[in-house]
Amino acid sequence: MPRTKSLATLINHYGSEREFKLKANKISDVYKILNREIFNNRLKKPYILTRRMHGALGLFEFNPYATKHCYRITLHNKFKNFQEFVEILGHEMVHYYQKLILKQNSAKHNKEFYSFKRKFKKIGLNLKRVYR
Ligand SMILES: [Zn+2]
Repeated sequence: MPRTKSLATLINHYGSEREFKLKANKISDVYKILNREIFNNRLKKPYILTRRMHGALGLFEFNPYATKHCYRITLHNKFKNFQEFVEILGHEMVHYYQKLILKQNSAKHNKEFYSFKRKFKKIGLNLKRVYR
């Protein structure tokens, strides 16, 4: 990954044709960009893990009883392309924002969820309920 300039640079670097296999060390840079561009750096870094998932590409979970990580994002280990990975991470970050900042039930695709659509669009990303 090139040293981070902008999201557009990264998306361009990876291209849209290539499948993107997610490694844990690729997450941090993209997380920081999204946090800055979309969430005004209001999100602390949650625990993020990757694994092969069935029926979903991403998942946000809140567990107030967890001993270590109350906020957790799980990402699928393989994406159609790099942009899909960025969009899924962004989607789960909206759920995180809903829970952490708005104190909402995290799993809802409600008005507040879609209020981020414009900010996503501004940096070339889609915010949708389902991606495939
Ligand atoms: Zn969702």
